[in-house]
Amino acid sequence: MGSADDVVLEAVDIRKAFGTHEVLCGASLSVQRQEVISIIGSSGSGKSTFLRCLNMLEIPQGGQLRIGAETYDFSRLRRPPRDAQLARLRRNVGMVFQHFNLFPHKTAMENIVEGPIQVLGESPKQARETGMELLVKVGLQDKADQYPQQLSGGQKQRVAIARALAMRPELILFDEVTSALDPELVGEVLTVLKDLAAEGTTMILVTHEIAFAADISDRVGFMVDGTFAELGTPQDVIYNPKSERLVRFLERFT
Ligand code: ADP
Ligand code: MG
Repeated sequence: MGSADDVVLEAVDIRKAFGTHEVLCGASLSVQRQEVISIIGSSGSGKSTFLRCLNMLEIPQGGQLRIGAETYDFSRLRRPPRDAQLARLRRNVGMVFQHFNLFPHKTAMENIVEGPIQVLGESPKQARETGMELLVKVGLQDKADQYPQQLSGGQKQRVAIARALAMRPELILFDEVTSALDPELVGEVLTVLKDLAAEGTTMILVTHEIAFAADISDRVGFMVDGTFAELGTPQDVIYNPKSERLVRFLERFT
């Protein structure tokens, strides 16, 4: 573990309810630079909501979030963060979704350069150069001019990853990015994630690919009812689970 300066994001006691349904009940996680963290847990345990709180697609009702120089104390927040604040936050915390969310009427390249041009103010030429490097990185250098509907699910997801990388975020969140794919397409996306991890990309992944999570992660968190029931190294959490609940959860995936 590095110094405090190496903390990219710190979430403390995050709380979020929808109506009377408390989905996050005090979830805490601190992410070091270059760390890879996987979050596992049953459907409905709050994994997606937690990720969405980290880039404030959902605004928590309690707890604190520190990202770089910015600290948000949600129990004291009197009004929602301004759009400019949210834009700054989301530039630093990228997200890739289960269902890709590509712009259907833009080519792969146009999807990738949109953010760098519109938000980062890069020149179209610069953005396209970087975009091509990113397409090479995800193995799609020959797909720049294809539209999403012309691509397979695995290819779409790799474009979505390239699009997130193009913003050069401090941290990227991946929410079950292989869950919607046909089984034969899962491997090509996992390979890209593994390469990113090896390059030192700071990332949090929600995944049901337990063996993969154990392989690439520095730490694994097991979420139960909106809080981390276990959080530690893969050796601890996946190979030496403490709770009966985690033992039973892992049995379903092996
Ligand atoms: P997971 O990703 O672990 O499957 P989610 O975070 O998606 O879990 O959901 C946790 C719980 O929160 C579920 O019961 C879900 O129905 C509920 N939930 C999530 N988003 C909303 C929302 N926007 N409005 C109401 N309930 C929601
Ligand atoms: Mg989810």
